[in-house]
Amino acid sequence: MKVIVTGGAGFIGSHLVDELISRGIEVHVLDNLVSGQLHQVNPEAHMYVVDIRSEEARRIILQVKPEAIFHLAAQADIGRSVQHPNYDADVNIIGTINLLEAARNAKVRKFIFASTSAVYGNSHNALISEADVTIPSSYYGLSKLTAESYIRLYYELYRQSYTILRYANVYGPRQIPKGEGGVVSVFLDRIKKGESLNVHGDGQQTRDFIYVKDVVAANLAAMNSGDQQTLQVSTSQKTSINEILKLLSNKFDVSVKKVFTPPREGDIKHSCLCNKKAADILNWQPHYTIEDGLEEIRAFVSQTEDTLKEMEKYE
Ligand code: NAD
Repeated sequence: MKVIVTGGAGFIGSHLVDELISRGIEVHVLDNLVSGQLHQVNPEAHMYVVDIRSEEARRIILQVKPEAIFHLAAQADIGRSVQHPNYDADVNIIGTINLLEAARNAKVRKFIFASTSAVYGNSHNALISEADVTIPSSYYGLSKLTAESYIRLYYELYRQSYTILRYANVYGPRQIPKGEGGVVSVFLDRIKKGESLNVHGDGQQTRDFIYVKDVVAANLAAMNSGDQQTLQVSTSQKTSINEILKLLSNKFDVSVKKVFTPPREGDIKHSCLCNKKAADILNWQPHYTIEDGLEEIRAFVSQTEDTLKEMEKYE
């Protein structure tokens, strides 16, 4: 079987590519490397350094004729979306339309889209469901929501089958210390540099942190189920920024000085997504608690440091 992963050089996409390849699936990656990194791409993947908005991207899809497209490439930085709404819309909306056009022409069986909890904006519901009102408070949330609408309309007009997965805050190894939900990677970066940590707001804002491997598992499940569904990929558990910083301090046995700064424009106060619909329809469950996920990161970091030390011996 052949699939395309857009954004396969990025944080979540590169983990998805690894898992697909480990299952014997032929993977083609489309990524312009604007935030992704080539060394993260599994060497067994077919890599195309290409922009999802380009004619070249459409040509590759027509040539490869994949069974499924996992569309993860995006401008995924909330702050940048507020500063550069044109660019954000161009990548997240026009880029998605470009891929949808190619998908329907190449008769792709399934289009699986990485959406986000940012589509809800500042919801007052303690536990958000897929049926809740969507009023994004950032251009990023708005561009993802608009892309979702295009995907649904491509099904109505052309029967282009899809699953939309709205991820909560994803964390795990390879996450760059910025963009959406990157508090864990930002913290690790500060530990490495011995710097203080800026906490936007009072740190009491809460998020639903989901480990990257659980997100990958939901994507795989969506290959064969969840047709024409919009599903939340989350833990249904909330953790405050202050709590996660405490857990990280304990896990890494360090204390990092916190500097409280004003809340960022477009930032959401609380966000916790119910995962019941995804659990029922995809027959999927998150397996990692926040402690499990942080433990995997700690093991990954120490393994990476050991490898670096080992390499230094030979330099
Ligand atoms: P990431 O920045 O690590 O990955 C995005 C990838 O897309 C990068 O490799 C980048 O180079 C590529 N890309 C960006 N613009 C492109 C373009 N015009 N053409 C081709 N490639 C392009 O981000 P991530 O955290 O891995 O996010 C992956 C997806 O998941 C995104 O769609 C994001 O919106 C979504 N998402 C992420 C989170 C999270 O917490 N990280 C939460 C919800 C949704």
